[in-house]
Amino acid sequence: MSRQVCPFHTDESVVGQLLDDGSTSFECDRASGHPGNQPWFWLATPAPPSVPELSGLAEELGLEHELPAAIADLGHGWFEYGLVERSYAQRQPEGFARMVAQWGHTAIDKKQYTASAYLAGTLGRLSRRSAVAYHPGVGTGRWSYNTNISWWSTMPPGDWNNRTAWVDEVGDHSARAQADDLACKSYMPA
Ligand SMILES: [Zn+2]
Repeated sequence: MSRQVCPFHTDESVVGQLLDDGSTSFECDRASGHPGNQPWFWLATPAPPSVPELSGLAEELGLEHELPAAIADLGHGWFEYGLVERSYAQRQPEGFARMVAQWGHTAIDKKQYTASAYLAGTLGRLSRRSAVAYHPGVGTGRWSYNTNISWWSTMPPGDWNNRTAWVDEVGDHSARAQADDLACKSYMPA
C-alpha cells in the first residue's frame, strides 16, 4: 500500500489508488488549503526502464518548462492527457520524435512502456511539485481503452467542471471527426 504526503499539508498522509497502467493516483483528504481552492490530486508513476542514454532526457528537453507551456497553449480549465501530448508534440516535434523513437507510441505499437507513459510520468512528477495540476478521469475516443487517464491544468487549477476531452477537441464521432483524428495523428513520426 502506497502512502504519500500532500505537498500542501505535510501532516496529511494519504493512501494512493493503484491504476491499471501501474501509476498511483493520490487525493488529499482536506477540502481547503490547496491552489485555486480546489481539491488536490497528484500522480506517481513507476520509473521508466533503465536505459542509460535516456537518463536526463526530461532535463535535456526542458520538459519541466515545456509541459506546463503545452498545457497553457490549450487554454484554461482541465484537458485530457491526449490533448496535452498533442500540444507538446506540435510545439516540440523533435523532442517528441526522439521519445517515440526510443519508447514507441500506443498508436504505433503496443508496448509496455511508451512515449506517452514517459510524458505522463514526467507530468506526474511536476504535479507532485505543484508545477501543474493533475486530476484523475476517464479517457475518451481513441484513448478510451484507459478507464483511468490523467487530466491536466495549469496552476492554479480551475473548476473540474470546466474540462475538455479528447473527443470534444478531436472528435472520433463521425467520418469527418475520424478524418480530423487521422490528421492530428500526423504529429506522430511514421
Ligand atoms: Zn492537502
